[in-house]
Parts: sequence; C-alpha cells; structure tokens
Amino acid sequence: MHRSAKKDIVKTGAMMALFAVVIIFSALYYVNAVSSSLEETTREYLQEIAWQNASTVKKQVEGDFQMLQAMAGFIGGQKDFLVAPNMDILTEQVSKTSFKRMGLILPNGTAYTTDDMNMMAAEQDFFKRGMEGESTVSETISDKTDGEKVYVYETPVYHNGHVVAVLFATSRAQTYSSLLDVTLFGEEAYSFITNRDGGVIVHSRPPQRFMDIENIFNKNNLDIAIKSNELSKMQDDMCNRRSGVVEFIHDGRIGYINYTWINVNDWYVISAVSADVVVGKSDYLIGLALAVCITTMVIFLGLFAYILYAQNHHKQELERLAYTDEVTGGYNWSRFIMAARSVLNKSGDQEYAMIIFDIDKFKVFNDLFGHPEGNRIMQHIWMVLRENVGKDEPFARVSADNFNILMKYESDEEVEYRIKKIVERIENFGEASSIGHSVKLSFGVYYIVNKTLSVSLMSDRADIARKTIKGNHERMIAFYDQGIRDRILAEKSIENEMVEALENGEFEVYLQPKYSIATRGIVGAEALVRWNHPERGMVPPGEFIPVFEKNGFVVKIDRFVLERICEKQRDWMEQGLKIVPVSVNISRMHLHNPEFTQNTIDTVQKYEIPCGLIELELTESAMLDFENTTKLIDIINKLKAEGFTLAMDDFGTGYSSLNVLRRLPVDVLKLDREFFGTDTDSRRGETVISDVVAMANHLDITVVAEGVETKEQVDFLSTIGCDIVQGYYFAKPTPIERFEKLCAASN
Ligand code: C2E
Ligand code: CA
Ligand code: CA
Repeated sequence: MHRSAKKDIVKTGAMMALFAVVIIFSALYYVNAVSSSLEETTREYLQEIAWQNASTVKKQVEGDFQMLQAMAGFIGGQKDFLVAPNMDILTEQVSKTSFKRMGLILPNGTAYTTDDMNMMAAEQDFFKRGMEGESTVSETISDKTDGEKVYVYETPVYHNGHVVAVLFATSRAQTYSSLLDVTLFGEEAYSFITNRDGGVIVHSRPPQRFMDIENIFNKNNLDIAIKSNELSKMQDDMCNRRSGVVEFIHDGRIGYINYTWINVNDWYVISAVSADVVVGKSDYLIGLALAVCITTMVIFLGLFAYILYAQNHHKQELERLAYTDEVTGGYNWSRFIMAARSVLNKSGDQEYAMIIFDIDKFKVFNDLFGHPEGNRIMQHIWMVLRENVGKDEPFARVSADNFNILMKYESDEEVEYRIKKIVERIENFGEASSIGHSVKLSFGVYYIVNKTLSVSLMSDRADIARKTIKGNHERMIAFYDQGIRDRILAEKSIENEMVEALENGEFEVYLQPKYSIATRGIVGAEALVRWNHPERGMVPPGEFIPVFEKNGFVVKIDRFVLERICEKQRDWMEQGLKIVPVSVNISRMHLHNPEFTQNTIDTVQKYEIPCGLIELELTESAMLDFENTTKLIDIINKLKAEGFTLAMDDFGTGYSSLNVLRRLPVDVLKLDREFFGTDTDSRRGETVISDVVAMANHLDITVVAEGVETKEQVDFLSTIGCDIVQGYYFAKPTPIERFEKLCAASN
C-alpha cells in the first residue's frame, strides 16, 4: 500500500474515532439528561399524585363528616331523643351510602348498630372522644364481625346542649384504598394514609410485602430503606405538619417517598414509588436513544467504510491504469522504477545488475507480421521473464520492444548464464509460433556499483552498452564498462570541440580514388573527411561521424565537404586539369530536411559546375530506414534529373534484398568491404558477389567494389564484370594535393 493510501486510512480512522467519541458523549449526555429530567418529573408527578390523593381523601372524609354531622344534628334536634326511630333512619342511610354500618352509642356505652352488631363501645377510644365532644376518624381497625379492615367516624349528638349519644359510621378501608390512585406507576408504586406518627390508616392496593405494615416508622418497614437523616427529617416534618419527599433504597433500588399533610385528623398521604419505575421509563427512552445512536453510528461507519472502499478502489484502478503495461499486463516503466528503487533500498549486500534488452529490427517484424503478432512476442517474452526471475527481481516492458530486468547476481558468469537461459526460452517462441520467425535480442548490462543512482540512469547505462552491439550479429550481450565510460567522455569532448574545430578549419577533406580495373586509370574519387586535431593529430571519421550523426552536426560537415569538393572541381575546371566525378557522403539526416534537394542543387550551381561531377552516396540502411519510400524515390529522381549520380553505399550490410534495387532508381551500387572480409566463407561470398553484380549490370547499375586490398580480389572482380574498385590495393584516401598528382599521373 502506498504512503498516501495509509495516510488516508489514518485520517479517516481518526475522523471515525472522533465521530464515535462525539456520538458516545452525546449519548451519555442524553442519558444523563433523560435520567435527571425523569427523576425531576417523577418527583413532580409523585407530588401531584400525593396532592390529588390528599384532596380526594380530604373531600371524602369531609363529605362523610358533613353527612354524619348533619345526621347528628337531625337526631339531636328532635324534640325527644329516642334511639329506635333513629335506627330506622340510619339503616336507610347505610343502604344509600358506602358505609358498612352506622350506629348510636349511648353515654352508658350501650351501642345500637344498623346491623345489630354486639359491640363493647365503652372501651373504644372514638367513643370516649365523642363523648368529650370531638368528631374523629379512627385508625384502621379490624371489624369484630368479619375481621375486615375498617375505620370509624364518630361525632357527638347534642340534645338540649348535652351529648346524649355518639353517632358513628363504619367505613370500609377499601373505600379509601380505591381513592389512592397511583395506577400510573403500576405495581411498583403505593400510597398510604397514615397519621402523624406513621400509623397506617389506609393503604392503596400495595405490593404484598406492605399489606401488614401497621406503622411505617416501625423497625424493618422504612427505616432500613431510608437514610437515617432523611428518616428523621420525614418524622420531624410529619410531627410538624409539613410535607416533603425523601429518597429510599430497597434491595439496592432507589425510590421516592412523598408525604403530604391532609387537613383532616392530621393525616398524611404517603406515596412511594420505586425508581425502577423511573428507570424502567428512562430505560425505554435511553434504550431508544442508544438505538438511535448505534443506528446512526452504524450508518456512518458503513458510509465511511464505503467511502474508504470506494476511494481505495478508485485509487487502485488509477494505479492499475498508471502502472500497468497494456500489452503484457505487467509493470510499466513508472512502476518498474518504483519497484527497482524499493528493491535496491532493501538490498543490503546483495549485488544487482540492471539489464535492458530489445529485439533487433522489431519494427520490421511488426511491418511484416502485424502488430498482433508483435504483441504476442512481447507477451511471450514477459511470460518467460516471469518464470525466470526471482521475487526480488523486478522486470517490465518499459517501451516499444524494450525490456528491463533488475537482476541479482553473485558473479558475472551467472548473469551471462541466466541471460542465455532466458534467450533460449524466448527463442522457442519462433519455433512455437505459426510464423516461425525467430527473434534476435541485444542485451545491455550495467553492474550496479552505486545503488543510490537513479534507476533511469542505471537503465541508460545498460542501454548505452546495448547500443554498442546493436546490429552486431555476433554479440548478444554488452556490458557497461570502462571502455564505454571512456567513449562517453570522448564523445563529450568531441561535442565540446566540434563547432570551433569547423570554424578553425580543423576538418580536412581527403580523396580516395576509384580505379577502373580494365584501364587501371582513376575514374572517380570519394571525399572522406578527416579531423586534424591540434592535440590528437589526424582523427579518422569513424570516431566522430557517429557522434555527429547523433547530434546532427553531421549535416554541417557534409555541407562543408560538398562545398570543398565543388570548389575543387571549379579550380580544376579553371586550371584545365583532368576532372573525375567525386562522391560525397550524405548522412541519413538530410533526407528529413525538405530543403536538402534544393540546397544541394544551389551549392553546386553556386560554383557553376555540372551536377554530373558530383555523386551522392546514401547508405543502404539510411535508404531502407526512411519510412516513406515514395518520397525517397522522389528525392532520388529529382537529384538525378539535375544530373547528380546517386549511389547506394555499404550495400550488403543491411538486410535488404536485391528486390530493393528494382524499386530504388540508384545509378551506383557500392559493395561494402565486408563482402571481401577475410573471415567470410569465400566461396559463398564470391557467389553472392557475382549474383549481385550480374543483377546490377542487368539493371544498368554501376558496381563499385569498396575495400579491395588484394590482387586476387581485383582479379575475381574483373571476371564477374565489376570494373570499378575503391580500395587500398590501388590507393588509400589522400590529401587533395596528392590526389591531384595521382590523377595527373593516371591515364
Ligand atoms: P564509407 O563511406 O564506407 O567510406 C569508405 C571507408 O572505407 C573509408 O574509411 C575508407 O578509408 C575505407 N577504405 C577504403 N578502402 C579500404 C580498404 O581497402 N581497406 C580498408 N580496411 N578500408 C578501406 P574512413 O575514411 O575512415 O570513413 C569511414 C566512414 O566514415 C565512411 O565510410 C563514411 O561512412 C564516414 N564518412 C567519412 N567521411 C564522411 C563525410 O564527409 N560525411 C559523412 N556523412 N560520412 C563520412
Ligand atoms: Ca561512402
Ligand atoms: Ca562505403
């Protein structure tokens, strides 16, 4: 993964973490807010209920009292106080109200009840208080008849200013129970009515565990649950008719108790609710909040993950496009540089060699067999490399038909051995392919000395080595070594000096005569340039012409040579000397200059010499490499029309067939001196030469044999009908003055 991708993930991760923290804090804040608001609401609600309960109870009690006191007033207000008739009224009243019974107790304690209950009223507290003129409501007591929880209202009956009886009504505790409404809180809430001392008068439908409580302040009722200071506060408040709320803990659960004073009998409505109810409610809200949080978080995380994925995917796709070679599917040049760099950085003591190779004449291969077949070769090469290089040896097709390998090595032999193995595999392609065309490869090897050099410089060095054997059929591998380094330095110094050298007249033109075998006379000459270097002496063109061809300076040199020759021809004409045509070399660069033809004509006309005195030599490879054959033919024809002679130089060094001769309208064919080299199979060479000469004669093309050094060669050439020879056998290239003498002496 790349640095930027890692950075992005860290960035997104940090954002996600921040987001999660924000969500969690919001959730906590929300939970807290919900809890405290719910607690607040609960307290308020509890208070509300207590007040309502208190007022309901108060109204009920007051209503009951009013009714009782009205009855007492009625009974006492009668002319005569008699028990019996009043009992009928009471019985009727009981049937109309919710009272269980009513009754009258006489001062002697005799009790008359609507249900004929036998009751020992004299000992009853309420009776005593009634006799003293008080109206009271008793605490909850058990009904003697059936044990039902009841309480008793009583009020004195005054007759003529004396208490003549106590009127009482028994009410079922159940009646008030149903008034104590705490249903909102369900089973977990309950209410009591107590007196100021905590004695339970009535309770709501409470949980079973509270059914038997008689006094809320009794041990094990509330004191265990309420903090002692809270408990005493509550007790103190109740003694002093104050209302309030306290917190309690039961079984580790928190709850609230509200006590509200009712202005009846000094009663209190005590309402309790377990915080579980609150928590239960808040649990729901908190749960909801958490669900929302988690959902939001999941959605956002999902979104983040998706964005990350999409980004990554997009990046990978871009990287794939940016770093993949579309022909082989492997690395491209950019990716190769990265991979090589990273391998070299981690390589420690391991030695590496940068290798580059290409296919000779791949352009021609493509032209002949088509691009799909060319691509097939590339893919095949790539596959061979994949199978033959190791994990830490990046390789790639880096351009057209160029491949790079960063190869590990222990010894030089190992590199050569591995290259040969790779070549063997690649060459199998030819046999396997339907075309059967085998490929020739050229390798350049640079043993990496300084691993910190740029990968592209390493590749350049390997490439410089490779170029030294380009087109050389004998050598397949070239190493970047001291020789190459020296040559590069030499090239640099040539480039530094060339312009000045031309201005200073350091370039000289030599002439090498061409002889007729038949007459042994000079029939022409070739102009060959020399560099008369002030320090290095006479430098042969082989050392500087290739450099000039690379940097373009050769165009100036050729023009200089042409001018020198025209000038000389003019001289000779004026002096009335013997004149022969002289050929000049035309570098391939001229062909790309649209003004070349006209410039050449202009130069010759400037010296007022016939164009027929100038022969133009273009090498076979220059002609064949020029893509536009029609245009080349045009150029040749135009020059020929002006009277120039056109020669194909170095014939036999390229891969051209004789067929090319038919198409290109040249006048002269110069057989390369390679034909006469000592190491070629002489028989075969002679056959080829004679065929070429025969063919040329047939096409009316003059053949000039170059580099002829021996008498045997001369004799052979003469037998096959080649008449003109340029070679050391007759003469070497010489300064013009000496050539003039040779010419004058020649017949
Ligand atoms: P080239 O055009 O093929 O020139 C013939 C070369 O063969 C000359 O080498 C000549 O000295 C050499 N030669 C002639 N007879 C014999 C022989 O019997 N034995 C051997 N071993 N060599 C022989 P030179 O003068 O060193 O020129 C080398 C090349 O430099 C020329 O090859 C030509 O390609 C290039 N060159 C020379 N002068 C010019 C020039 O003015 N312009 C351009 N563009 N190229 C030039
Ligand atoms: Ca030549
Ligand atoms: Ca030549």
